[in-house]
Amino acid sequence: MNGFGRLSFFSMGIVTIMVFLPMALFPQKTERDNLLSGISGGKTRVLDLSYAINDKLVPWPRDEKVFEAKTNATVEKNGYFTRSFWMLEHYGTHLDAPIHFPPGKTTVDQIPAKQLFGPAVVVDVRAEGAKDADYRLPAARVEEWEKKHGGIPAGSIVLLRTGWASRWPDVQKYRNQDAQGKMHFPGFSVEAAKILISRKVSGIGCDTLSADYGASEDFAVHHLVLGAGLYQLENLADLREVPEAGAFLVVAPIKLEGGSGGAVRVFAIWQ
Ligand SMILES: [Zn+2]
Repeated sequence: MNGFGRLSFFSMGIVTIMVFLPMALFPQKTERDNLLSGISGGKTRVLDLSYAINDKLVPWPRDEKVFEAKTNATVEKNGYFTRSFWMLEHYGTHLDAPIHFPPGKTTVDQIPAKQLFGPAVVVDVRAEGAKDADYRLPAARVEEWEKKHGGIPAGSIVLLRTGWASRWPDVQKYRNQDAQGKMHFPGFSVEAAKILISRKVSGIGCDTLSADYGASEDFAVHHLVLGAGLYQLENLADLREVPEAGAFLVVAPIKLEGGSGGAVRVFAIWQ
């Protein structure tokens, strides 16, 4: 082989690398790439599923002091504006970290970041909840969702759409307490939670005060789900627009060291 031959063999190699390397590094654009690149142009819908925080949200019964904000610096006096605030970890749209209920162990700051991103699975129980405020999502409804949309992928976040957000922030309507003070709103059942844990979902969420139904006294779903290392999202805002399948969720809780949970910003994105 002469010098020229060697050179062309060498340059062909370069060409091969130049053509195939980008293909290896950037395989064909996935749906998810389009989902992210469509955000700035408006092709991708971005929905904020968190309520703004103030002192007038619906607290858990017997929680008295819930939130306080104080002005720390003003533009007039200091040339800039800052506040300090105090709030309960479980108030407004918030995340329950596994350590919130035994045998859960993980604190909110320790939840692995990758568990905070996942496909949104929305189970719609508005009709059932309107008829029966003590409704608990049966395992069969989870299976029904899977028949319609395919198996629930590992890493999903499963949201129960009860329609309770329409009652927010009316304390009476949202808690729906009876004469004895017992609350009545829908929630997950232990059987449904067991299936979701077996599907290796990252978390569950609801548009009510609690992942357990309102009348629960033993918080069985809390113990089971948090004990299995999953997290819970509570008091999610209106889920009406989020599709039953096909949306992606971004869950961004406050990174409070040692926290049992805390305020969370939740975004659903889809096309
Ligand atoms: Zn909570």
